[in-house]
Amino acid sequence: MTTAIVWFRRDLRLADNPALVAATQGYDRVIPLYIHAPHEEGEWAPGAASRWWLHHSLASLDTGLKHHRGALQVVAASTSAPADGGGSLGALRAAIKATGATAVYFNLLYDPLIRKRDEKVRKALEADGLDVASFNASLWCNPWETSTKEGEPYRVFTPFWRNLRTRIDEQGPLDTPAPLHLGTVPKSDDLDSLALLPTLDWAKGFDEWTPGEEGAQEMLSLFADDAVGHYDTGRDLPARHGTSRLSPHLHFGEISPRQVADRLRAHFARRKNAPDLEPYLRQLGWREFGHHLLWHFPDTPKKNFNKKFDAFRWAKRDAHALRRWKQGKTGIPIVDAGMRELWATGWMHNRVRMLVASLLTKNLRQHWVLGEKWFWDTLVDADLANNAMGWQWVAGSGADASPYFRIFNPVTQSEKFDAEGAYIRRWVPELRDAPGRLVHAPWEDAAFLKRSGYPSPIVDLKSSREDALTAYQKARGAP
Ligand code: FAD
Repeated sequence: MTTAIVWFRRDLRLADNPALVAATQGYDRVIPLYIHAPHEEGEWAPGAASRWWLHHSLASLDTGLKHHRGALQVVAASTSAPADGGGSLGALRAAIKATGATAVYFNLLYDPLIRKRDEKVRKALEADGLDVASFNASLWCNPWETSTKEGEPYRVFTPFWRNLRTRIDEQGPLDTPAPLHLGTVPKSDDLDSLALLPTLDWAKGFDEWTPGEEGAQEMLSLFADDAVGHYDTGRDLPARHGTSRLSPHLHFGEISPRQVADRLRAHFARRKNAPDLEPYLRQLGWREFGHHLLWHFPDTPKKNFNKKFDAFRWAKRDAHALRRWKQGKTGIPIVDAGMRELWATGWMHNRVRMLVASLLTKNLRQHWVLGEKWFWDTLVDADLANNAMGWQWVAGSGADASPYFRIFNPVTQSEKFDAEGAYIRRWVPELRDAPGRLVHAPWEDAAFLKRSGYPSPIVDLKSSREDALTAYQKARGAP
């Protein structure tokens, strides 16, 4: 009997899983293995909200495997050197020895440290004589497969998308292989022993999510039945569920872009008045662009993509302002609503992400990495590629970024995209009964502000905007 290990990472699904399909086709028995080795991801090891999701997603994958009379094998890697049996390589070698496996199959990840680790593991296992194969499960195309006519990486989204768009329609998802003959590792660990869940009861509000493959499919069904039809306009309104909310499911590989596009096309195939799916597919294209950038420019999570931006002078780090921003107590209602939504649910609407990031990096002139780090710890969809791209886009330092001088006015944005203040009222109870425009700018009536118990604004929006522009002009003039 031949045995292959399928090394699960962020591809936590059974359907459309190329490594699982290939292993099942090539070997008699497959061992589904998850190795916990956060120390190999350095400062970008999963944050607290991601760990919550990971726990439930692993449990869900285990349930899925039990339907095939198997179970997910979980191993906590030791932090000692691989040569001493530590790390992912050590854990894989131990599993190989214990099961007689002659192959290790896995799906690719593109984060710089994981990439390096995977290359070392691949080389070492090949040197041990194993059949090692890797696949693309999470993107339409591997990041290196899309390039300009000159063979260069793209730095601007629209031409990137035009190129990628020609290659996505023919891609159909793979079925779950059946039957699955699953094996076990004699010394596997208990999922609870990984201690992924928070000890505080902060994640109570996360219960609105259902991590795992089934939860992803349910979320997609909800979106297909309703919001996708008016995505182009609804996606900017934070009070509505106008977007797919698939980001954490996509991040953990519980669903792939191929599956999403395929299901949406099938859903509308025989209907009259099918909605235009392009605006939604284009958004998934941004995800691919983020991975393309991270692959070609691996230091973008910490360094300005646009090097000219290095001359920009950030304000001194302001611990007090940063705390108020994190707590949703800046006194700017739409920003506080977003930060409180984030804390309560592990997610924030895209439009509001842009507004909170703009306040932090422009009005408060705090370095974008500070915001990126907070998002990393608190978002259930925290994703190195998308998070770095999002922060650099808003800060003005990124590829194809919003120009620095375009500074969002959170009050006019709030009036435009949350006209009735429904989103603010939901997340900022102090303003639940605010009359008319005051829900967007409560400081305009001092007596109301005092009565409401809501804080005064942390900055004057107008003068801080001017200060930011002056700092930007200085940076542009710098030699
Ligand atoms: P939908 O509108 O339904 O879009 C479908 C999918 O397309 C998303 O799930 C996501 O995978 C992708 N997508 C949509 N918009 C973007 C975008 N602007 N950039 C990249 N991919 C996109 N997204 C993350 O997945 N993880 C992050 O850590 C992250 N951090 C961000 C930080 C900032 C400052 C900003 C401005 C944006 C960030 N985004 C991040 C992008 C975007 O906000 C989320 O992907 C989106 O809000 C997720 O909600 P949804 O699934 O309902 O999106």
